[in-house]
Amino acid sequence: MTSRSVRTLLTMLAVVAAMTLTPINSVTAEATDHDGEARTVLITGANRGLGLEFARQYSAAGWKVIGTARKPATATALKDLGVRLVQLDVADAASVAAMTADLADTPIDLLINNAGMANRDGMDFETMDFDGVERVLAVNTIGPMRVTRALLPNLRAGKGKQIVHISSGLGSIEENTSGGYYGYRESKAALNMFNRSLAWNTKDEGFTCVVMSPGWVRTDMGGPEADLNPEESISGMRKVIDGLTIEDTGTFQSWNGTIRAW
Ligand code: NDP
Repeated sequence: MTSRSVRTLLTMLAVVAAMTLTPINSVTAEATDHDGEARTVLITGANRGLGLEFARQYSAAGWKVIGTARKPATATALKDLGVRLVQLDVADAASVAAMTADLADTPIDLLINNAGMANRDGMDFETMDFDGVERVLAVNTIGPMRVTRALLPNLRAGKGKQIVHISSGLGSIEENTSGGYYGYRESKAALNMFNRSLAWNTKDEGFTCVVMSPGWVRTDMGGPEADLNPEESISGMRKVIDGLTIEDTGTFQSWNGTIRAW
């Protein structure tokens, strides 16, 4: 073996060793700002489903994670991640105010309004329950509005200035070719409109605000027949979020990097 081929072999071994030894929770470039400080993400509804996977992945990537749960006492999987846990019911003004007080002086780089619900009897317009429709609007539409406004001082203090609302393809008017899902569809279409206004009104301050469809994902809400597992959906969304620029503000993004129709 020549000395050159020995050097090549040693270089290859070093690369393989570095890849093997990189810890899963190493801090990625994405997790730090230009000054090398860890970024902070706040994720609502982080105790299960997509929110929990967001918390797991951002935490593993080295971000400071604040995860919210309606019932922190039973949010075992979230607690096990070792992230900061805050009580929050997005439809309860007192709960939002308590969270704001708890987080005073905490800069937030990225807010992910993920918490959401579906009204299960919304398939039949003639029998659906209007209380359920009111509830889904309170959680899916007014909730993100309430949380975003409450956290604006924290977001202004952060450097990232990113706001992501988890919407749904079911909120697309153009893509609605089957009807049904009364209540849920309206809640996400209205969320999309809220985001568009927010985007216009915060662009001068440097905010990037998007709505994002996670795909159809196997969670309690998505059910076992869904296309994607949470890991795939969240990996895709994190990649999209990481690549966002202010020129993207006000857009309807999809988990796989495509733009959804309104
Ligand atoms: P899950 O039902 O698995 O989880 C919903 C999360 O939202 C839970 O953490 C739940 O908390 C929380 N939540 C519900 N109501 C409130 C409230 N009033 N205040 C605070 N938190 C609340 O749903 P997914 O993880 O699948 O959905 C996450 C988001 O993605 C939702 O906005 C949903 O609409 C959207 N989405 C999901 C799709 C899918 O295929 N899964 C497809 C398209 C969009 P708790 O445990 O206390 O109930």
